[in-house]
Amino acid sequence: MYHYFIMQTTTFQRSLEDKDHFTLTFELVPGRGSRTTVHAKALALARDMVMDGRICAVSITDNAGGYATLAPDVIGQEIMELGMDVISHFSCKDKNRNKMESSLYGWDRIGLCNLLVITGDYPQKGYCGHPKPVFDLDSVHVIDLLTGLNTGSASGPATSFYIGVAISPFKYHEAELAMQYLKLQRKINTGAHFGISQLGFDCRKYHELIQYRGQLAADFPILGNVFLPNLGVAKLMHGGNIPGCIMPDNLLATIKDESKSADKGKQARLERGASQLAIMRGLGYDGAHIGGPGLTMEDLNFLLTEAEQLLPRWQDLARSFSHEPDHGFYYFTSGAHTGNSVSPSPKSPKKRQSPLFHFNQFIHDQAFAEQGTLYPLAQKGCLTIEHTIFRRPLFWLENLSKSILFSCRNCGDCTLDHYGYLCPQSGCAKYLLNGPCGGSSDGWCEVYPRLKRCHYVLAYERLKSRGSVEDFGQGFTPPRDWSLQDQSSWVHFYKGIDNTHRDCRKP
Ligand code: SF4
Repeated sequence: MYHYFIMQTTTFQRSLEDKDHFTLTFELVPGRGSRTTVHAKALALARDMVMDGRICAVSITDNAGGYATLAPDVIGQEIMELGMDVISHFSCKDKNRNKMESSLYGWDRIGLCNLLVITGDYPQKGYCGHPKPVFDLDSVHVIDLLTGLNTGSASGPATSFYIGVAISPFKYHEAELAMQYLKLQRKINTGAHFGISQLGFDCRKYHELIQYRGQLAADFPILGNVFLPNLGVAKLMHGGNIPGCIMPDNLLATIKDESKSADKGKQARLERGASQLAIMRGLGYDGAHIGGPGLTMEDLNFLLTEAEQLLPRWQDLARSFSHEPDHGFYYFTSGAHTGNSVSPSPKSPKKRQSPLFHFNQFIHDQAFAEQGTLYPLAQKGCLTIEHTIFRRPLFWLENLSKSILFSCRNCGDCTLDHYGYLCPQSGCAKYLLNGPCGGSSDGWCEVYPRLKRCHYVLAYERLKSRGSVEDFGQGFTPPRDWSLQDQSSWVHFYKGIDNTHRDCRKP
């Protein structure tokens, strides 16, 4: 029998690691400005939740939607002073690695140690135009940075960050879904402690995520997202205006009908949320992450009480709660109860790759693999030329050939081989090196919908054709070293200072 954790006696981390507890967290979105009614209401709700005791921690978004909002650490500290544990979102979009590290020292110092590490939505218009998208590190790099800080090796005493990650099972193309799960493997291998699922309304997908975790044999706690959209938010989601969030047609139609009632659909919304909460517990999630606009303590009280009542019927509820698209890809084949069996779905056949791909693979194997026939000559040539007047011409030759073939951006720290000869510096709007963000939709990039395929969707087909998809989950690509920019990556490879040789933990 589950029982809720009482905040006064413990913390979020202890609650989540105790398998007898079903941990409840709640998401607050701070909003723009520094002293608005939104902030006052958020603090009042946090105060009510402390008094109630069932919500274990409040999570605070970090410039959600890509807009500048009140910093999560500022309002987070105020909420902690009320006696509520806080999970602060930590996104990669607005700060470089040194700013991140500096912030983390400060957060550890004030005890803001539960983090949800996310890539972050692409930055939207700010002061005097669109800001520069930073994305210096990706979420896997940040986990590695945090893991290093937690060991205390490089920067004094160990920090105590509890590292959370977002997971998005709501992808309905094989390539998108596979890359999400492979990135999850990288996150876990790099040191993530817990996960929170993306929000969604498809129980078969929620079940899939729990089954996938079982397949990894990972004792990795996951909170299921229980999101209660009102009509306005449902329409935004349906229109693709909230990256990575899917609103099925039939659910939007239901919410529209419900909104015609005197309470504008609030009761129906709460009942749906209570069903979803009961289903999360039934499916085996370690807790639930609740969110939705305008929720009050009274609403939360109804939600939590009703979910208790519904728990014995969770399987019936799950069957009626599955908003599955017609031809969506699921990791496991269809089965009883919540719709999944334990058999993995068959993957699509390998796609034929262009002769250029095979040519690139051949050249790479010959010149950049130690057993390749061209390797000794190429190594000697590059290292010799490096010290002559032909150094710049060598760079121009590399630059010209790679610009034509791969839209190269001269990072000097080449990662082409990791993605089947696709360049993430020009192919991914967020320059991600360890897997996709959660914002793609129908295989299109979050930033260029219907214009550009997601870099990782394209890379998946190439990795599949050379039989190295599963290896991707075990890998780690270090962040690029900006001191190598505009120099020959060939020379850096043979000198042993590029990403294939670098150890991030070495000072
Ligand atoms: S290419 Fe893919 S991973 Fe990169 S920003 Fe676009 S959707 Fe995200």
